[in-house]
Amino acid sequence: MAVAARETAAVRRRLVYGLALAAGISLGGIGIARLLGYRLGMHTVVRCRSGHLFETVWIPGIKLRAIDLGIARLQRCPVGAHWSLVVPVRERSLSGEQRAAAARAGRTVL
Ligand SMILES: [Zn+2]
Repeated sequence: MAVAARETAAVRRRLVYGLALAAGISLGGIGIARLLGYRLGMHTVVRCRSGHLFETVWIPGIKLRAIDLGIARLQRCPVGAHWSLVVPVRERSLSGEQRAAAARAGRTVL
């Protein structure tokens, strides 16, 4: 009984450490990206291979409906209704009209 309780506590501790490590890596990725001029998070502007701009949720390490390739993702483009590699776009490289168009295009969720 005591051995089982200790093993359960050890499993819980490893789970908590694992989750904390994953959160730290994710937050570190967002911080580095922001330093480079990318605004990763809930309203990240991305460009597909056909040049369409749209917003998506881009949190490093978290994706349910995309294949993460590091700096690019294979994701469904809502503008062209096709699957494509998408990459984040530096906010300051976009005009006001491009930002507005990306927001109008809709936001894909994870
Ligand atoms: Zn597209």
